[in-house]
Amino acid sequence: MKFRNILYAIVLVVASCTPKQDVHVIPEPLEMKVGKSYVSLSEVQLIYRNDDSLPNEAYKISVRRNKIVVKASSDNGFLYARQTLDQLTDEAGRVPCVEIYDAPRFAYRGMHLDVARHFFGVDQVKKYLDIMAIHKMNTFHWHLTDDQGWRVEIKRYPKLTEFGSMRKETAIGKGWYDVKYDGIPHGGYYTQEEIREIVAYAASKGITVIPEIDVPAHMLAAVASYPELCCTGKQHDVWGRWGVSPEILCAGKEESFEFLENVLMEIMELFPSEYIHIGGDECPKTRWAECPLCQARMKELGIADDEKALVNLQAYVTNRVETFLAQHGKRIIGWDEILEGNISQSATIMSWRGTDGGIAAAKAGHDVIMTPNTHCYLDYYQSRRIQDEPFAIGGFVNVEKVYSFEPYTPEMTPEQRAHILGVQANLWTEYIKTPEHLEYMLLPRMSALSEVQWCAPEKKDYGRFLDKMSSMVKIYQKLGYNFARHIFEVQPVIGVDVENACPQVRLTTQGDAPMYYTLDGSEPTESSTLYTEPVSVRDGEVFKAIVVREDIPTHVYSQSFTRHKAMGKAITMNTEPSELYAAGLPQSLVNGVLNEDQDAAAGEWMAWRGKPVEVVIDMNGESYSTLSVRTFVSKWEDMYAPLGLEAYVSEDGQTFEPLAAEEYPIEEETVPDGIKKYDLEFPETSARYLKVVVKTVPALPEWSERTGKPAYLFLDEIKVE
Ligand SMILES: [Zn+2]
Repeated sequence: MKFRNILYAIVLVVASCTPKQDVHVIPEPLEMKVGKSYVSLSEVQLIYRNDDSLPNEAYKISVRRNKIVVKASSDNGFLYARQTLDQLTDEAGRVPCVEIYDAPRFAYRGMHLDVARHFFGVDQVKKYLDIMAIHKMNTFHWHLTDDQGWRVEIKRYPKLTEFGSMRKETAIGKGWYDVKYDGIPHGGYYTQEEIREIVAYAASKGITVIPEIDVPAHMLAAVASYPELCCTGKQHDVWGRWGVSPEILCAGKEESFEFLENVLMEIMELFPSEYIHIGGDECPKTRWAECPLCQARMKELGIADDEKALVNLQAYVTNRVETFLAQHGKRIIGWDEILEGNISQSATIMSWRGTDGGIAAAKAGHDVIMTPNTHCYLDYYQSRRIQDEPFAIGGFVNVEKVYSFEPYTPEMTPEQRAHILGVQANLWTEYIKTPEHLEYMLLPRMSALSEVQWCAPEKKDYGRFLDKMSSMVKIYQKLGYNFARHIFEVQPVIGVDVENACPQVRLTTQGDAPMYYTLDGSEPTESSTLYTEPVSVRDGEVFKAIVVREDIPTHVYSQSFTRHKAMGKAITMNTEPSELYAAGLPQSLVNGVLNEDQDAAAGEWMAWRGKPVEVVIDMNGESYSTLSVRTFVSKWEDMYAPLGLEAYVSEDGQTFEPLAAEEYPIEEETVPDGIKKYDLEFPETSARYLKVVVKTVPALPEWSERTGKPAYLFLDEIKVE
């Protein structure tokens, strides 16, 4: 009978001992031994033991023929064991026989969500917590208040939500400068009942919720609701634009502290967390400088009238709030700006402007949470092809960049390392309005983050992580999460082939899906050349490539090149670029790729900050008479034109003679921004080594928002003809 034969075949498959091909767990367990056979989850006994000898959050799983034993010493340990078992379970409900011992590297494994710039309701916040839970994360940093909205009900101050939770309209486009608005009101807040519901829901997933009430800046929604709290006492609207409002809490008025203490009393009742985040970032102090009450406060405190006076006034606010919270058994976390003032060592520092603040804080004895924008800002673009991306704030943090983050530096002592509590990624929502977009920014970068938080460096392996993503996306799909697909596309790196003096394209993609390419401008298909090794692109050729997958649709990648005499030449770089914009350097300066996109995140813009750019190109027998550099200027983003361009030549690469030089005045505010080209012409030479120096603006001018800070200089290519 046919039917019986089919049934017999199914039984055989279930009972077979064929090893499952992929045993994929993200984040990678500390120790995992995989056996050859399987058990069906529905047929075995699941035994849970509390084993107090295990560290907090650690767990053991032992899958045997007739039983699965799970051991842990904490609720979180059991929850993580359950997550691991879920990931090990295949479509037939089977689990491989494994022995696992697993424990996290860091005690603090966080995700941040800004609900002030755009509001997300209770259900979406719960979904966010679910996504954290599958990645074994344990801390949710909830950014509840800002210039653009107050999102938590405070019974004593009803206007905070009646008035402060709504804005009339929201900026269109970048929305920091020369702002246009959409005319659509936006708002929302959580009632105290809803907050309690979310805190309880998070606790059921092993997640602590840390609320952030940003003090003393990012406070416009509050001072718009209660104008007497700001220095001028004037009425303002809740902001619909981005950036930081100068209207901050007055540090001279006692009412400000009374307000903060009353708000924090209700916050402490809502959030059982040991920590309260008090912000402290990006505090414009122009109002304080003009306010008689703030000036009187400084006098009363004996704050010296020097250039640090206003910073010390902020430190006074921070310390006073900390003392109040400490009286109630709470500890503070603040952004790394609070280090600028004289603050108490018991404050925990969240390092966001790179890792320098975190390193300095650990040296000074503070506890530290690393959230550097270089690796952990998930509002940044995750692809250089920004024309295909939803609009973002800028920057570039792809999955690999997140994965590569290592919070310890080689110089850190064991004591300093012990101060690094953990790692967190931040999601600011100026440009994120929908749940789909929110999830797109989170996944799969959060999966990469989970290995940074959970795994010791020697247990990390980006190639293996990518392989495991084939299983992880099935979980995303099953749970209905939207996710970005870049890792499943062709991932190009454009270097140079020095021997043939031309660009060379290296491709990678997730798994072993085949990639095909063409050089004659035709669209690549499965009958084009199979990619097996880096491809050198000769004069006049256009490189196009595609990866072919059954389950995920993909796009054609296309790149053309601008030929010149330095293209593909050996190049060395003598000055350090900005870490955020350094991809592919220094070869990317001579790979023939020019940008048309006027966005720092796009294509191959590379940046230096404050220091001159200095590179040496081995011209290798070429004769040449022109040097040109292309830069992208956007002054409100501190991206300036060069102050000078210099060329030097040498035959031995050691002693250089000046060849040509030009100086440029610093650009005035009124000069239009954009992509600009600077040329130097000189008598034809065939000197072997050409040194190029591009001078940057060391200090932003008076009229800038950040006077005195170093400017960025962006370059895409150094052309020699
Ligand atoms: Zn004041």
